[in-house]
Amino acid sequence: MAGYEIRIANCKKGKSLFATKQYEQGDVILEEDPLVSCQFAWNAAYRYLACDHCMRPLETPEQNVRRLSCKPDIVLPHSNCYESNLENVTTCDHCGVLYCCESCKQQAYVIYHRSLCHDISDVQHPVMVLLEAWKQMHYPPETTNILLLVRILAYIQQSPDPTAAAAKIKQFCHRTVNEDAELVHKLLGDQFTDQLNTLRELTANVISGDHIQQFLTPDGFCTLMALIGTNGQGIGTSPLAMWVNNVLELTMSDDERQQLDLFIDKLYQYVEEESGTFLNTEGSGLYQLQSSCNHSCVPNAESSFPYGNHRLQLKALKTIMPGDEICISYLDECSLQRSRHSRQKELAQNYLFVCWCERCSAQSSQPDCTSEEDMSDEEVDADD
Ligand SMILES: [Zn+2]
Ligand SMILES: [Zn+2]
Ligand SMILES: [Zn+2]
Repeated sequence: MAGYEIRIANCKKGKSLFATKQYEQGDVILEEDPLVSCQFAWNAAYRYLACDHCMRPLETPEQNVRRLSCKPDIVLPHSNCYESNLENVTTCDHCGVLYCCESCKQQAYVIYHRSLCHDISDVQHPVMVLLEAWKQMHYPPETTNILLLVRILAYIQQSPDPTAAAAKIKQFCHRTVNEDAELVHKLLGDQFTDQLNTLRELTANVISGDHIQQFLTPDGFCTLMALIGTNGQGIGTSPLAMWVNNVLELTMSDDERQQLDLFIDKLYQYVEEESGTFLNTEGSGLYQLQSSCNHSCVPNAESSFPYGNHRLQLKALKTIMPGDEICISYLDECSLQRSRHSRQKELAQNYLFVCWCERCSAQSSQPDCTSEEDMSDEEVDADD
């Protein structure tokens, strides 16, 4: 039986995830695959080869580090520390897009790919035209991809019960039209009204149908863009990182360990010099259970991708008692260290809410220092 339940505890926060049993630090609370996921557009353009369905990287750690460092002679020891399973790689029979295995190929086709399959060499195809327009509006660092939105529409269209599928997607939307517009403004920048219209028209050229027309109106499309902007969970997969994790688990002498640590440091240095911050295959996905987890500045749970693909795992960071709300942090490690004012500013801009977690409540007497806005990014939380 699941050790959690989704409930509406207070109408302001909407849905929340609560524990129904006790979890200790490190316990797995849940695992789930996304409704849909998608690699980022620029990430793909930079030749990060991944399964078109589950985002599993389609190269070995050695190929990965050679490509990213531009050093074709690097040899990784302990090659048995990573199972690439590249012998099962297959392609869509029609368009040639790559999948890590037969099961991904079939799932993709059944869920969304049937409506979107097209000749990938045809730059005039509506999908390619949309993708190109998107890339000109949304430069790295990428936070989402218009193709995730397109896959959501295809998922509804191809569902055996499109009304139920549309309702499932609408559960992610709980804001007013004005709030959605504010979020899209943040996502696309000052030109957002024009850009949103362009994207909407280009999307309608890609896919249409009775059940998705409601998402192709100006308001409906804006809502969907806000949805992928706020609910799209970032996914990062990297064969190199998985290999590093695995070799660090090996038993070896202190001397060997030291050598290995130096070697790994050097690998990352080479990669950094050539590829900068482009370290992982990156994309985003829409997760039903995880997206009902609210934010806390003292989270008791954390998401990760231990299988090197889009399957998400939610783990307890500390003891969680039955009845406790399960919360994750929407802020990254670095932002989480900042003062209440800085945290609240980031959450308000990106997610439009005021955090009242126990840490924020305890710090509510801290000055808001709005007059020193520029300094706020440098502030470090004095309480921790
Ligand atoms: Zn796959
Ligand atoms: Zn295809
Ligand atoms: Zn907080």
